[in-house]
Amino acid sequence: MKSVTLFGGLELDTDLPSPDLPFEDITAPQRIILPLSDRPGVYCRPLVQKGEAVFAGEKIAEDPTGKMMPVHSSISGKVVDIRPYRYAEGENTLSVFIETDGKDSFKTEVSPVENLTEADPATLIDTIKKAGVKIIPFEHLPEPERMGQKIAKVKHFVINAIGTGYSGALPRRILVKRANELSDAAQMIRRMFNPEKLFLVVNREHTDVQEAITHANLDSVMEVLSMDVYYPLGHPHLLFKAIFGKEIPCPGGKAIDFGVVFSSVDTVLHALEAVTQGKPLIKRYVSVFGSGIKSPKNLRVRIGTPLKELVEACGGFDGTPGRIVLGNPLDGMAQFDLDRPVLRDTRLLWVQQEADVMKYSYRACINCGDCTKVCPVGLMPNFLSKFCEFGKSEEAAEQYDLWTCIDCGLCAYVCPAKRPIVHFINYGKRELSLRESEYGTL
Ligand code: SF4
Ligand code: SF4
Repeated sequence: MKSVTLFGGLELDTDLPSPDLPFEDITAPQRIILPLSDRPGVYCRPLVQKGEAVFAGEKIAEDPTGKMMPVHSSISGKVVDIRPYRYAEGENTLSVFIETDGKDSFKTEVSPVENLTEADPATLIDTIKKAGVKIIPFEHLPEPERMGQKIAKVKHFVINAIGTGYSGALPRRILVKRANELSDAAQMIRRMFNPEKLFLVVNREHTDVQEAITHANLDSVMEVLSMDVYYPLGHPHLLFKAIFGKEIPCPGGKAIDFGVVFSSVDTVLHALEAVTQGKPLIKRYVSVFGSGIKSPKNLRVRIGTPLKELVEACGGFDGTPGRIVLGNPLDGMAQFDLDRPVLRDTRLLWVQQEADVMKYSYRACINCGDCTKVCPVGLMPNFLSKFCEFGKSEEAAEQYDLWTCIDCGLCAYVCPAKRPIVHFINYGKRELSLRESEYGTL
């Protein structure tokens, strides 16, 4: 096991559920909502109509351009509506609403691959794509690779089991429970991409993870990198620098440009389930925590489940909820609607009691420079946020590298003037994306 030391970021106190808590499967919801877009300008085409019956695992939408993964129903039942739904990110996104028939009948077009050791690489990749699992950033590949006609050259494949540094409790729990399956996952990755190196990145402090790795003999099938983890050093740009000693050019540079792929440990295991069991991605792991939750838990939930059902599965709110955030408290998105569904990338739901929410009005920047000291990618968040606040996002992009920001939230965390820096920055990014997108919002 090799050791890597990282510098920068901050060590944060977190109130995540204990990694000792087992994952609890929550019952299938009465109703799910599945958005047909995961970013501005990219849409899946619905394959079902209102009134149609669907199975759990059935493909209900696909993107003919291959930029977005297909969408599968996570319950069996009836499509009751297809209409725009307003998400906290500020967009009305076309979504499919499905009500359960209570039978949980499963049927899918994803077929398991018979022999992992002899499987054709293109068949493996195609199966994983059909299952809706984004094991590599397909959307950043040139057209032939995206459409599965060629196989991307992957030089190094990195399995990230530290999350962003904040969300590390989830991959830690997954690794402790499922380390044995990573040998098969390694075989699958080698068969698909034949990378020169396959890495597994873990937190040096997690002795239970080290034990699970030793027990599963993972050191013999991949290079295990044990790291000191500070927030947000699980981010691909920072991990890239830590592992390979060089930087991805920003803005616009991507790890895949250097033949490097980062994939989370849960994504790799979802891909393995697709090729060995023919399972599409319809469930995911979510940690629910914070002072406003009665019993914080690690859950396994159907994609599309309303957030309120996750809260109920944790015994409900503790006191009056003050702030509900999807994602981690530093870079997550505050929610106004608990009918909002769990998405494919949902990992954390944080609820803060009203009494714990700091009430303040932000003040003008005092140019203390604290935000520039903590920014892990060397930006000037003070200037960036001022430009975005006043609608000058193009200038923020041209003069202050808006797109290099990785949304970690550290600048706002340390700002003595309590400026909502990340919100201004995200507002600027959103504004530019919508302007550049072909379709815009519905
Ligand atoms: S500017 Fe972006 S990358 Fe830098 S600290 Fe703020 S949120 Fe993080
Ligand atoms: S930390 Fe806040 S007050 Fe200080 S320079 Fe940055 S934005 Fe301004």
